[in-house]
Amino acid sequence: MLLDGRDGRLPQGDGDGLVSVVLEINAGRIRALHPAPEPEPESNSLAAPPLALTPLVEPHAHLDKAFSAARFPNRDGTIEAALAANQAETSCRTAEDLEQRAERALMRAWRQGLRAIRSHVDCSGERGDLSLEVLDGLRRRWADRLELQLVGLVPIHHWGTEQGRLQARWLADRGGRLGGVIGAPFGIGRGDGQAVLQTLRLADQLGCGVDLHLDEGVSHRGRGVRLVCEALERQRLQVPVVCSHACSMALLPPRACQRLVDRMARLALGVVALPSTNLWLLDRRAEATPSRRAQAPIRQLQNSGVVVAVGGDNVQDAWFPGGDFDPLEVLRLAVVASHLHPWSRQGLGPFTTAASQLMQLEWDGILRPGSPADLVVLDAQSWTDLLARTPQRRILRGGIWLPKPEREEPAALLRGWGEAGLASGLVH
Ligand SMILES: [Zn+2]
Repeated sequence: MLLDGRDGRLPQGDGDGLVSVVLEINAGRIRALHPAPEPEPESNSLAAPPLALTPLVEPHAHLDKAFSAARFPNRDGTIEAALAANQAETSCRTAEDLEQRAERALMRAWRQGLRAIRSHVDCSGERGDLSLEVLDGLRRRWADRLELQLVGLVPIHHWGTEQGRLQARWLADRGGRLGGVIGAPFGIGRGDGQAVLQTLRLADQLGCGVDLHLDEGVSHRGRGVRLVCEALERQRLQVPVVCSHACSMALLPPRACQRLVDRMARLALGVVALPSTNLWLLDRRAEATPSRRAQAPIRQLQNSGVVVAVGGDNVQDAWFPGGDFDPLEVLRLAVVASHLHPWSRQGLGPFTTAASQLMQLEWDGILRPGSPADLVVLDAQSWTDLLARTPQRRILRGGIWLPKPEREEPAALLRGWGEAGLASGLVH
């Protein structure tokens, strides 16, 4: 999958799509790939070479909120409580705190095998400019380790305001995108269609892409996606448009869903599916276990030619209390939650090649002569090993191994759960 299928010198993949190869590396790039020699029959060696992927791509994160759950928890787990905690956090955000959390996020991501991240950034309101500036500073400082793309995340009407227009130009000048929310956690409004059209026109004037949060719920099935389709049918634009979440359309009757999928394919919309946050927030009810587990209809979209990437979305914030910028964990979850098989092109592409395409990265993530000597080498020999447990890994970037993260000493101070709530205690 991550090798060039047109390279006739390489053998066909086995039943799991795997090929054993030997790499020649020169000056940080791949000089040549050869088929691995057959093991000697008398060697009795049963050990297969380690599984290796090219570094993965995170198409949808929120670096500005990451690791804020401890101070702004959402113990109800509802989308309304998430929004309230999010707003409380942004209202007292400081540059120092934001920089520290986002830097920690980038370090985790880089060490765990990501090479590019698209991060949405809350940028309406008083501290919006501060958040953009802090993250842009990090974007420049980290540019030789990973590519960071910024997307302004606002209620969709914001781009029509004076602050919105200034921020849009600022983002476009730095390779950023215009984002926005249609539908949950905000309500729906009659002016949404016009605001979408206005946003797309503004992006087109500025020559920057658009990446919207839409239909993150189980009601108003596919409404946000339809508004985007209508706007693009009214005025065809050149800028790439990505729909993030796109969950509720999956609850349409199958034929209506397929019609909408075909419409999206005709308009060349991209989709980012975000199973972890969707599984955590959607169809949440106090007295019942969820049954409507809506997520973007990934397979139908792929089968109709829509480019679909899968992202990790929130990490330890009010919207999702888990996550750690570990792309292998996102992949492992999607195998179960979205039935994406890593041994198939459609299963692995959303984390690698399709995600690179959606983010318009220079490298498509396929190893071939001339491509970067970048690898994530796993302590696993098969997909089953990868599914059994999160593997240890070594990261090769530009032909050089990254240092292993230092081991942290286990703490003697422990926490346990007591009837009265969380309790702390020292181990003697
Ligand atoms: Zn998001």
